[in-house]
Amino acid sequence: MEKLAIYPGSFDPVTNGHIDLIKRATGIFSRVIVAVANNTHKKPLFSVDERVEMLQACTKGIKGIQVEAFNGLVVEYARKNNVKVLIRGLRMISDFEYEFQMALTNRRFNEELETVFLMPSEGYSFLSSTLLKEAAALGADVSSFVPDMVNERMKQKFAK
Ligand code: ADP
Repeated sequence: MEKLAIYPGSFDPVTNGHIDLIKRATGIFSRVIVAVANNTHKKPLFSVDERVEMLQACTKGIKGIQVEAFNGLVVEYARKNNVKVLIRGLRMISDFEYEFQMALTNRRFNEELETVFLMPSEGYSFLSSTLLKEAAALGADVSSFVPDMVNERMKQKFAK
């Protein structure tokens, strides 16, 4: 039987930490849907199409993944796609409280969906898209934290 999982997030933009997690997930599951949230309450730097495009380009060599945008509740998106495992990343203890709350809330909405946490390589455990955007906006070199394509796209955004 196919072991399917969904890895949802904003991916605004994708970082080497996300890629590390995607690689770990594909080592466990036969197919991983990387689901890019088209959530309107967060004001993203990149459009959902840009985020999907960057993810697709940066994960080209990784087998068993598909990148898709989704609207609305991830639990409903998982149900529609018959997915029973939701993957989230745990970086620091500070992630734990929010992720714990979300996992238990999501379970109430969809009892069949189990949240599985993966930890990135310790070298990526401090990386966050939000922090990288703030640093890049101030002119920092973030090239060692994101794929080359993302680095270029960020430079273009902030050059405007
Ligand atoms: P969201 O807005 O849903 O938190 P993110 O794109 O920030 O979207 O994160 C998506 C998922 O990837 C979350 O589970 C987050 O904990 C995880 N994640 C983000 N950055 C890293 C990283 N550096 N290493 C491992 N997991 C990460």
